[in-house]
Amino acid sequence: MRRFRFLRNPDPASLGSDLESFLRALGGPACLFLEGADSSRTRAFVTLLHGNEPSGARALLHWLQQGRQSAVNVVCIVASVNAALQPPLYSHRMLPGARDLNRCFRPPFSDEQGHLAEEILEILRLHHPEAVVDMHNTSGSGPAFGVCTHRDRHHDALVSLFTRRLVITDIGLGALMEITEESCPTVTVEVGGRLDREAQLTADAGLVRYFTADNVLTPVANPETLEYFEHSIRLELNPGMALAYADQPVPEADVTLLPDIERHNFQPVDPAVALGWVKGDAKRVFRARDGGGRCAVASLVRVEEGALFPAQRLKLFMVTNNPDIAQSDCICYAVEV
Ligand SMILES: [Zn+2]
Repeated sequence: MRRFRFLRNPDPASLGSDLESFLRALGGPACLFLEGADSSRTRAFVTLLHGNEPSGARALLHWLQQGRQSAVNVVCIVASVNAALQPPLYSHRMLPGARDLNRCFRPPFSDEQGHLAEEILEILRLHHPEAVVDMHNTSGSGPAFGVCTHRDRHHDALVSLFTRRLVITDIGLGALMEITEESCPTVTVEVGGRLDREAQLTADAGLVRYFTADNVLTPVANPETLEYFEHSIRLELNPGMALAYADQPVPEADVTLLPDIERHNFQPVDPAVALGWVKGDAKRVFRARDGGGRCAVASLVRVEEGALFPAQRLKLFMVTNNPDIAQSDCICYAVEV
């Protein structure tokens, strides 16, 4: 069964004037092929793997409305259109009961999301792009950053089209970038929160650079200006642990995090800064694995008379104050400073 709708050089007038009408016009997962001035090369732009992360799709619409031609061909994949349109708009990461699409890019491709992921990989294989950019919003408010699985000048160049922060991580979750990386440089770009004005500006400006630059794999700026976040560790909740966000410990919760915990995103946080409260031992409620697979909970957090602190000076990122994300994905990523 074909899940994707294919459009070649779509007429902007047929695509609606705002994101909702654009997505309704697409009607489901869509692949837009835009022919470039140099039609011998192709880049890929993937977005809306998560239905609640609309900035990339909106940036694509803004590009199409300008009626410009890209420097090379661009194959654009807009994936979770149905989840995005499920009311209330842009609130569903995926449809209820479905797996996280950005965890489905490795076998078994057995369910609906798996088939969708497999088809995305097939489209990318067919076009063998010189680069893949997968654009997301962060779950909370925060600054933009790029993510890739390893660091070299190609990835530096790609990321610097969008942002100055680069997270290097290879955590084997079945994310798109982990898979396509084998055939071409791939970066995930997190442009910031979907309600952040800055996020849309970052998405729009970065997409224009990505679509119009003659060469996206050669650093134009001094790569020294990139800030790297390497050897990050995911701080996760253990299964069954109840999480709350509040200004004081919630009796029913195993972990209560302060509601403004997002303010630590990409900022160094000292061991004296309280993060919340924990019932019992840190290892009872949290789990974390370092690159060698060892338990890293004690190197990330400590509990003192029920209060939660960093175990050492850390930089935290992808800090969420969304309990669903914290439960199903992770609370934050951390690197030692
Ligand atoms: Zn996402």
